[in-house]
Amino acid sequence: MAEQVVADLRERCATPVSLLRDVAVEMADEMRAGLEKEGGSRVKMLLSYVDKLPTGREEGLFYGLDLGGTNFRVLKVQLGGNDQRIANRESRAVAIPPHLMSGSSSELFGFIASELAKFVADENKGNSFSSGKKRELGFTFSFPVRQHSIASGTLVKWTKAFCIEDAVGEDVVVKLQTAMKKQGVDIHVAALINDAVGTLAGARYYDEDVIAGVIFGTGTNAAYVEKANAIPKWEGDLPESGDMVINMEWGNFYSCHLPVTEYDQALDKESLNPGEQIYEKLTSGMYLGEIVRRVLLKLSVQTAIFGEIDHTKLKTHFHLRTPHTSAMHHDETPDLKIVEEKLEETLGISGTSLETRKMVVEIIDIIARRAARLAAAGLAGILKKLGRDGSIDKRRSVLVIDGGLFEHYAKFSKCLETTLSELVGEELSKSVVVKHADEGPGIGAALIAASHSQYRNVEGNPDVKD
Ligand code: ADP
Ligand code: MG
Repeated sequence: MAEQVVADLRERCATPVSLLRDVAVEMADEMRAGLEKEGGSRVKMLLSYVDKLPTGREEGLFYGLDLGGTNFRVLKVQLGGNDQRIANRESRAVAIPPHLMSGSSSELFGFIASELAKFVADENKGNSFSSGKKRELGFTFSFPVRQHSIASGTLVKWTKAFCIEDAVGEDVVVKLQTAMKKQGVDIHVAALINDAVGTLAGARYYDEDVIAGVIFGTGTNAAYVEKANAIPKWEGDLPESGDMVINMEWGNFYSCHLPVTEYDQALDKESLNPGEQIYEKLTSGMYLGEIVRRVLLKLSVQTAIFGEIDHTKLKTHFHLRTPHTSAMHHDETPDLKIVEEKLEETLGISGTSLETRKMVVEIIDIIARRAARLAAAGLAGILKKLGRDGSIDKRRSVLVIDGGLFEHYAKFSKCLETTLSELVGEELSKSVVVKHADEGPGIGAALIAASHSQYRNVEGNPDVKD
């Protein structure tokens, strides 16, 4: 009976290479449709207005702010040009007090500006940072924003734990700049980006072969460099560089080839955003543990595999988190001691047999492998769209990935990498490189502020506009 539930799951979650290839083709097709016209695809393909990625030649002092999940980060970098790159850096992480996540926007931005003010005040205490004339800042804001220019954009909706009604539809840069003025912080916000774009910029600064920045954390997203003349929906003048970074918002990708099970359907139906973000629900950290919990619950109710247990915890949505399932997945003790402990601690399931624990690990493996293989298919889709799948462009392609899931879940990241090699083939896999981001998105934002600086040219000399 229990074996049957697992066998069904294995079958329904299967991701043979043929299926992954179909997914990659559809990802590339959706990318094209989203670039064609506004609303052309579920994959929004938003213009980031970032048309100059950092080159390494930038000079001067730049600030970054990173607002994503529960922390935010204030940082500054002293850029020393080609030889020195980041000559000096400093950063500070600050926890956002939970009550500010659902208060008013003036409270939230007031708090951010006051932390920035403190950070700036500290630099005047005689450290080694040399400041230029007018200071500039890049703002990483990882919520859906409709961008109007490199440094303006209105909030479409909040996600994660944030819910501040009066900010929706407002320009978040205006909000930030107003709050900074109140605090007496004289820094110009030169760029507004999200974490995928920041990851791309932070990596491109060191390596010009970087073509995409991808996040696998609580959620998932990707940004990549597109030719501006391949964006039919772009209406302005073509940028001088000929390039435009596209914020894909690929978490909302859907294809009929995606191996969606009854567990995924129920999860989606009961989620805060039913019908949306289906690719994200199959591949990101917020959901992997939750899918496993749903399978374990069915197993327990239908087959009593865990004996007579209290189902309260096993029935609680999101009670089993991905770091828990990841710890169980990596258990290398001969009798699966860690699995035993985690089942007891998190779900109140005790006295399991080794056989049962092995079955739990197999379920976790099925869900994590499906996620990693679909993630690889998404990356293959980007390569295909750019003709870098061996068809046209044979240059080295570096895909940079950041986010807690990729960073901490070794079996996930390993499987993603081997699957991508499998998809692109042995020959091409020599020139397709997947790597973990060296720099966080906040640094990337500071670097984009530098490459889009209004006050300096790229060599850092005061510009005529100053
Ligand atoms: P965010 O996406 O909110 O910016 P992170 O990139 O730090 O944050 O990713 C956090 C997510 O990473 C968590 O929600 C969790 O799903 C996943 N994660 C964190 N630690 C681990 C771990 N040890 N094993 C597996 N997944 C993890
Ligand atoms: Mg993040």
